[in-house]
Amino acid sequence: MTVASSTHHLLGLRGMSHNRLIGLLESAEQLLPIVRGDAEPRDTLEGRIVANLFLENSTRTRVSFTVAAQRLGATTVDLLGSSSSVSKGESLADTARNVAAMGVDAIVIRCSASGGAHLIAQEVDCPVLNAGDGTSEHPTQGLLDMLSLTQAVEKTDLSDLTIGITGDIVRSRVARSAAYAATCLGAHVVFIGPPAMAPSSLEGLLEGVEQNHGGSIAVCHNLDEAIPHLDAVMMLRVQFERGADVTSDYAAMYGLNADRASRLRKEAVVMHPGPINRGLELDDETADGPRSLILDQVSCGVAVRMAVLLEQLGARA
Ligand code: ASP
Repeated sequence: MTVASSTHHLLGLRGMSHNRLIGLLESAEQLLPIVRGDAEPRDTLEGRIVANLFLENSTRTRVSFTVAAQRLGATTVDLLGSSSSVSKGESLADTARNVAAMGVDAIVIRCSASGGAHLIAQEVDCPVLNAGDGTSEHPTQGLLDMLSLTQAVEKTDLSDLTIGITGDIVRSRVARSAAYAATCLGAHVVFIGPPAMAPSSLEGLLEGVEQNHGGSIAVCHNLDEAIPHLDAVMMLRVQFERGADVTSDYAAMYGLNADRASRLRKEAVVMHPGPINRGLELDDETADGPRSLILDQVSCGVAVRMAVLLEQLGARA
């Protein structure tokens, strides 16, 4: 058994050093032309095998890791929840140990257990990349959110930016990873939602985190009050599969529609990690409108995952 070290894996963004975060963003920025078709793919990771161990549903993240690995010349193998022995009762740790014993070079893990990625990292010798574990973290999502945002505002010092993360915060690994990354870049983050989804206790999320470069977190229950102050608004999906419930006025109170979006700052951008519940947290006009970075986030996701694979498999961009 090995002890999980913070840089041998990518388990989360909480406490990630500013240098490492900036380094990953810079590396991903250099790789973006490959994703956009403006540069040739590379063969840096030729001969390497990346195992996608996805025990929870995913569309974007699994495909994105696969495309990222293949653009660098690596091969991928997929082990999905319903077809893996975890569905026969094998433990997560046993499954991961078996996949590692086959000699794969990295394991990308998505699971419903918060802390599952840390658990696996203690069991295997190869790098473990967290692709979303329960409500804990989704680090490549946080990185891609920051790549997309820093590209839009053309700087990585976000200390004069206010980012509103809106919706089902309490069940969202995306909100946590985005908040850790954004505050590491100096941003002021406001969690916005009804008290059951955005409890005031979330203001303590950064307790014990040293790498916050002046960033801060506040909680607000009134989207209309927050809207004129936001430079970016990140809408979250209501996590129905994790027990979330909404009242009939949720969309009216916390949805971002064209009317609300018109009260955002002139340059403010709209983000969403996907999948979108259209008509609930976002209307079509806003999701597909000029402020939307949503498809750009998807492209940035491939570049970020390429950067992470290069970091973890020992090659530089
Ligand atoms: N795709 C993201 C996740 O895996 C966001 C979501 O599902 O709402 O957490």
